[in-house]
Amino acid sequence: MIVANWKANGDTQKNYQWFKTFHSLVDTKVLSCVGISPSHIHFHQLKTLFQKTDVMIGVQDIDIEGGARTGSISASMASHEDCSFSLVGHSERRDFFNEDNELIGKKIHSVLQHNFKAILCIGETLEEHKLGKTKEKLKSQITDSISKLNIDEKLIIAYEPIWAIGSGKTPDPKEVNSIHEFIKDVVQSATANNFEPKVLYGGSVNDHNAAEFFNKEYIDGALVGGASLDADIFANIVNTYRRLKKI
Ligand code: PEP
Repeated sequence: MIVANWKANGDTQKNYQWFKTFHSLVDTKVLSCVGISPSHIHFHQLKTLFQKTDVMIGVQDIDIEGGARTGSISASMASHEDCSFSLVGHSERRDFFNEDNELIGKKIHSVLQHNFKAILCIGETLEEHKLGKTKEKLKSQITDSISKLNIDEKLIIAYEPIWAIGSGKTPDPKEVNSIHEFIKDVVQSATANNFEPKVLYGGSVNDHNAAEFFNKEYIDGALVGGASLDADIFANIVNTYRRLKKI
């Protein structure tokens, strides 16, 4: 799966141009592996543009409940609008909005209860990376948010080293591959039903480095920020994925 995270970018005109370009460059067979998370305000525009395709349209965040929570969107609201997935626990949410693992666990629970996919984002800081604490950090992010839940393929993990996001720096794909294997093991032992999830890599993926990630066994796709805003580049990434994963 290749997921575009548009963050607080886009407007109706740019999104329309993006759709026309992207749609003309990508084979329909691979579209069921593509997810787009625009801003909430553009969710329906993207739903409408892609309505005749299998592209999944999702949201970048969800609240744990509805009602008197100004500015929020609940999982129940999202599922009524046929939302395919929600990112949960993106490092920007953890950092700017003080989201902790407990809250993130509740968000995942709420999303899964409403029957759409949760993409749990985890990752270490540069300092933790340098101190060799990556695995320790990832393990605690996983166990503190999904322990003992009954999980199925609706839970996807995105491994996003914080220092790689938007920086142009990426870890060695071989190292990412072994971290993904580790993540799969940790999720398997943490969940009630020993489920092995798909794991996406995120952090400065572009059309020049995508192939090095997609040809690794445990890298099941990518979460793409900056490079997903350019329809040509994102289409190249999706086409690379299609070629290497033989879709
Ligand atoms: C992200 O923020 O999820 C992300 C992967 O960003 P970028 O691709 O720009 O590093």
